[in-house]
Amino acid sequence: MGYKTIIGLEIHTELMTKTKMFCSCANSFGNEANTNCCPVCVGLPGALPVINETAIEYAIKAGIALNSNIITNTRMDRKNYFYSDLVKGYQISQDDLPLCEGGFIEIELGDGTKKVNLQRIHIEEDTGKQTHTTEGDTLIDYNRSGVPLIEIVTKPDMNTPEEARLFLEKLRATLKYIEVSDCKMEEGSLRCDVNINVVDSETGEKTNITEIKNLNSFRGAVKAMEFEEKRHIALLKEGKNTVRETRRWDEVKNETITMRQKLGVADYRFAADGDLAPLVIDNKWIEDIRSNLPELPHDKKERFIDEYNLEPYDAGVLTASKDLAAFYEETIKYVNDPKLVSNWIMGDVLRRLKDEEVEIEDVSLTPKALGQLISIVKDGKINNNTGKKVLKEMFDTGKDPETIVKEQGLIQISDEGELKGIIEKILDENEQSIIDFKNGKDRALGFLVGQIMKASRGKANPQLVNKMLTDMLNER
Ligand SMILES: [Zn+2]
Repeated sequence: MGYKTIIGLEIHTELMTKTKMFCSCANSFGNEANTNCCPVCVGLPGALPVINETAIEYAIKAGIALNSNIITNTRMDRKNYFYSDLVKGYQISQDDLPLCEGGFIEIELGDGTKKVNLQRIHIEEDTGKQTHTTEGDTLIDYNRSGVPLIEIVTKPDMNTPEEARLFLEKLRATLKYIEVSDCKMEEGSLRCDVNINVVDSETGEKTNITEIKNLNSFRGAVKAMEFEEKRHIALLKEGKNTVRETRRWDEVKNETITMRQKLGVADYRFAADGDLAPLVIDNKWIEDIRSNLPELPHDKKERFIDEYNLEPYDAGVLTASKDLAAFYEETIKYVNDPKLVSNWIMGDVLRRLKDEEVEIEDVSLTPKALGQLISIVKDGKINNNTGKKVLKEMFDTGKDPETIVKEQGLIQISDEGELKGIIEKILDENEQSIIDFKNGKDRALGFLVGQIMKASRGKANPQLVNKMLTDMLNER
């Protein structure tokens, strides 16, 4: 008895071009409503769209980075439907001749690598944005109308919400690496639709696919998929089936809710856009874009393993975001010890970012300051534990490590005479621990070290304490 979940994704990504897809209006988020608008954006009669070359370049860049084939003879189509956020009554999109076909992303699972195949990547324009007021009115802002998008459609190759999450993370990292989108989900520049159904492995019976629209956080997407997975299985168990429909995720109720019955392709009445000539793409242009592509996550990970001798897991984490990878490489310039820098970032730095739910680019910690901190720990000026406390202080106050160490008098005690005094005092106070040590109880040693560190307010050089303590115990 078992059920297999089948998940396919459609991801809409806004391209960060300066201007819109078919006119010269600014493509920028957060401006006053309806200020980045012209007759083309709102489809006034006689307004003629002109294709934005940079948008095509970015779409090709994404296609190459995602291992797709670039189709050199393509065109734009009109997708006819009426929504209040789409004032023209049609959206310019691509139907049977998408710009990119195929492609894949590899995700790392516990038991190896899985290839998630792509169906296609096509170009689209975004719609306007609706806001529903509490008085029952709908406000429409057309600033977003005509912003260039790519829609990335996967094959139904994912079998768990976790695999879908890994796919989305890898996709976002790749798009950010090649700088075609900022992928800010909270600003709507990356949105995801999920197609999901479940198969009973024994009987082969399957549920109808449901589509969950417009998920705007990875967490919401995963929760929505988990909810749907359970709902489909429960219906199968009762001998019932799901309706082929579009649903949305309700964050407050923590459930998916019916939006509408699914529209068939025929309902859109696709037709070539008569205002736009077929798009013929020069092979040389594609090769130019390919040869100028920056280093991608996978290649950077391999380089980190080779160049810095890192474990594959660590290299994978450090290269998962372009900014984190850059932070790591910049820090090495200040303390040339790749393994040690990796340990600090993988440990205390990432823990702090996770606790605060921020990215490395959002904090005041600089590679220079972290490099200086690691240097003074490495040189024995402060010990490792003190280093961690200083790092915490650096996050909190943005001060540099030297200042914190100076202000708080944290310089490590490596003076043997001074340490000897502290150790002798602790030994005098803990006769029983000495007896325990002589009787072979190793824990006594740890206890004594702890007492000495405490007496030195954490500043004693731990290696030196360990060595001197053992010698002095043996002399007693
Ligand atoms: Zn415009």
